[in-house]
Amino acid sequence: MTNKEGILLILSGPSGAGKGTICKSLLKETDIQYSISATTRKPRPGEKDGREYFFITKEEFEKKIQEDAFLEWAQVYDNYYGTPKKFVEEVLVSGKDCILEIDPQGAQKVKGKKPDAVYVFIAPPSMQELKNRITNRGTENTLEINKRLNCAKEEMLSMHNYDYVVINDKVETAVKKIQAILIAEKCRIQRNKLYCI
Ligand code: 5GP
Repeated sequence: MTNKEGILLILSGPSGAGKGTICKSLLKETDIQYSISATTRKPRPGEKDGREYFFITKEEFEKKIQEDAFLEWAQVYDNYYGTPKKFVEEVLVSGKDCILEIDPQGAQKVKGKKPDAVYVFIAPPSMQELKNRITNRGTENTLEINKRLNCAKEEMLSMHNYDYVVINDKVETAVKKIQAILIAEKCRIQRNKLYCI
C-alpha cells in the first residue's frame, strides 16, 4: 500500500530568476497541478483573470486573510499575493502533485505549515544576469528594478532554507532538474508507506 497524498512542490527565488518561465515549461511536460494565486496587482497586458492570477481588490484580499483562506500570503513589493489553501489541500488529498510559484517570504511561511513539501530555490546564473533579465523584460521602471535587485541580494541569502537549488542558466535543463527532483522525492521511504514483512 502506498501513501497517496500528492507532493507539494514550492518553486521560489528572486524576482527575475525565471521561476515563471520554468513553471510554465514544467507544466507542459509534467503531470502536476498549478495553484493559481490571488493578487491585488493589476493584470499586465495579455494576462487573464483566473489563468495567471485571480486579480482581486485589496478589500477582497483582506477579507480572505480574515477568513483564513490562504495557505500563505505576502506583500511583494507594492502588492499582496496569496495561495488559496482549500485548492491546494484538495489537490494534495486527491493524490495529485501541486506546484506553487511564490516569493521567498511565502516559501518560508509555507515551511512552517508544510514540512513535507519540497522546497526548490531557483537561482539566476549571476547577479548581473538577473539585472539584465529584469531590465529586458521591460515590465518595471528603474526604481522598481533597483528595488527588486536589492531584495534579490537578501533573498539569495535565504537559499540555505531550501531542499534544492536549481540554477536557471537554461530553461530546459532547469525543468529536467526539477522533474528529476520530483522523481527522487516520490522514491523517498517516508513517502512510501509499504507493508513490511
Ligand atoms: P509578478 O507580479 O511578477 O507576477 O510576481 C511577483 C512575485 O510574487 C514573484 O516573485 C512571484 O513568484 C510572487 N508570487 C506570485 N504568487 C504568489 C503567492 O501566492 N504568494 C507569494 N508569497 N508570492 C507570490
